[in-house]
Amino acid sequence: MKPVISAKDVEELLHNGGDLENLPSEAILTPSARDLLRDWRNKGGKQRGITRADSTVSAPPAKTLSSKSPRSELDAFFNSAYCRHLQEQICDIGRRLWQRAYVDGNGGNIAIRVGEDIALCTPTLVSKGFMKPEDMCLVDFEGNQFCGAKNRTSEILMHLQIMKRQPRAVATVHCHPPYSTGFAVAGIAPPTCMIPEYEVFDSVGVAPYRTPGTPEMGKLVADLTDKHNTILMANHGVVSWSHNNLEDAYFKMEILEAYCRTILVASQLGVPAKTMTPTQLQDLLKIKQSLGIPDPRHGLRECELCDNEEWRPGVTCAMAPKSEPAVGFDPEAEAAVQTITDQIMAKLA
Ligand SMILES: [Zn+2]
Repeated sequence: MKPVISAKDVEELLHNGGDLENLPSEAILTPSARDLLRDWRNKGGKQRGITRADSTVSAPPAKTLSSKSPRSELDAFFNSAYCRHLQEQICDIGRRLWQRAYVDGNGGNIAIRVGEDIALCTPTLVSKGFMKPEDMCLVDFEGNQFCGAKNRTSEILMHLQIMKRQPRAVATVHCHPPYSTGFAVAGIAPPTCMIPEYEVFDSVGVAPYRTPGTPEMGKLVADLTDKHNTILMANHGVVSWSHNNLEDAYFKMEILEAYCRTILVASQLGVPAKTMTPTQLQDLLKIKQSLGIPDPRHGLRECELCDNEEWRPGVTCAMAPKSEPAVGFDPEAEAAVQTITDQIMAKLA
């Protein structure tokens, strides 16, 4: 199989002083990796201009913190420049959620893992569009709060259950984007095979409705995170997690919401929407797997892909429908069965 090289791989290579001209010639480069390579070549093969996203930010604590760390260490962390940067990131993402109308009232919440079993999260009763860094709360994975003047949100338990279940989950976002939530109210995952970004970056599952903030709701969501990074919560909203960073978890919301809106438009145009072929989807799934993004379709054969029978708004999948075994009433066969049954009954009589 040809190796797939992502933008992250290119950044790593540059960071470690590698030479991009030595990449395997048969490698498949993701579009963003190709952009980075082009920039690098335009700049004469120098590393100038290509820096790791976090290189300007003060470093995280040298020792991994946990709920068992002394209170003084947790306080020092909470008041550090590094934590301030994370608090500002949460405010920034909160603002973007509000500006895009993905949250309403005090709805929605955000969390970042900051230690073995501790997370930084949003407070309760605050609009996500107008948070201040000092509003944030430091909690352990049971929801006990260590730092922060405001009380943590009750819905944070669901985020913490995701982090407990997924050691790779570094950030989570929950909100109520209207088009995606429309699908969640209908209780169906959007159809697939139509837009590349959605196929590569999002893996959507649907969790049944339970009262928000209850451990039962959190468990139902966490159970889906082995195969999905974006969960539609029936009659409620959406929660996403990322193994990269907070902005990546937020991007999953943008991608899902734009996709649901596009699908709805496509379904109203009066013609069946075109879908990608299983081979084209397989190429996207290869990129997805190389990026470490889960998907229940990893490992499926092409003939098993593009097969979403739940909902197709005027959309015909590129795959021919499965040929069903001939079933139904066959008068000749029925007559033969009746004759044999009569003979058996006559012998028994
Ligand atoms: Zn909610």
